[in-house]
Amino acid sequence: MKPAFLSFAVAVAAAALPAAAYAQIDYAAIQIVTDKMAPNLYMLSGSAGADRNHQDAAGGRIGVLAGPDGVLMVDSQYGQISEKVLAAVKLIASGPIRYLVNSHIHIDHTGGNAFFAKQGAVIYAREELREEMLRAPARDPANLPVITYGMGAPVKIRMNGEVVDLIPVRAAHTGGDTMIRFENANIIMIGDFYRNFGYPYIDTANGGSLKGMLEGLDMLGKLAGPDTKLVPGHGTLITRADLIPYREMIVAVRDKVAAMVGQGATLQQVLAAKVTAPFDAKVEGGLLAAGAQGTSADRFVTEVYEELKRGA
Ligand SMILES: [Zn+2]
Repeated sequence: MKPAFLSFAVAVAAAALPAAAYAQIDYAAIQIVTDKMAPNLYMLSGSAGADRNHQDAAGGRIGVLAGPDGVLMVDSQYGQISEKVLAAVKLIASGPIRYLVNSHIHIDHTGGNAFFAKQGAVIYAREELREEMLRAPARDPANLPVITYGMGAPVKIRMNGEVVDLIPVRAAHTGGDTMIRFENANIIMIGDFYRNFGYPYIDTANGGSLKGMLEGLDMLGKLAGPDTKLVPGHGTLITRADLIPYREMIVAVRDKVAAMVGQGATLQQVLAAKVTAPFDAKVEGGLLAAGAQGTSADRFVTEVYEELKRGA
């Protein structure tokens, strides 16, 4: 049997784009592709091209838990395509969208919050995410989470015969990350602190950290069984085994950067040393542009350098 994930759209590192780049996205071209993961659990991916490869995909993946108790959604994609997302949800389930959980603040995961709140959804997220959102006053207050929780205070939602765990991850991709576990389906939506297109992205402006990313990977390694499907916000699905080389890569880059920081190297010197070189052939998209800081490799090395330099 063909595993469901093979048909998934995989995503460009959209969250990595600087704000100005969002204006370039052709929202009208985005189609929503639905994949059934379990009897009542679906994933929706934005696809802007026939190939559905990393370059063609658009926005963060959405989870939809459907059934007689109504719908729980994970993440809300870009606000510009909310009508399309709603239409895709309605094809799965006729009931009301009761809950919307945000994996983290990025606009390709929360842009539709206000739209779905107006549909009646109650938005759940980390307290830190709400604070991050309040720092961006241009956003409609209707995007704000209504029910918040902190580190060490996971939430359980029981509906449609499923137990959904909202599991906080301390300061990893952002300062307000949550993993969403569906216990019976044995699926964890892990947000963006893992990615398999480009190097890791630590959004330090929104509270992300290298230490937290490693912590999150360790926590996920303990939560997941060998057969648990791990669903990143972008890219192909993985299992627990895939976390090991990913973590090793992060640690190897960190150690090289740390040694250079210890010798007093400048950021320019560290970037010139190409410390990611042993991994560049394996990390798809790693040398593609990822915003103002150059390639995704350069961005990652810059984030690591700055965190180590601060002595964090
Ligand atoms: Zn993100």
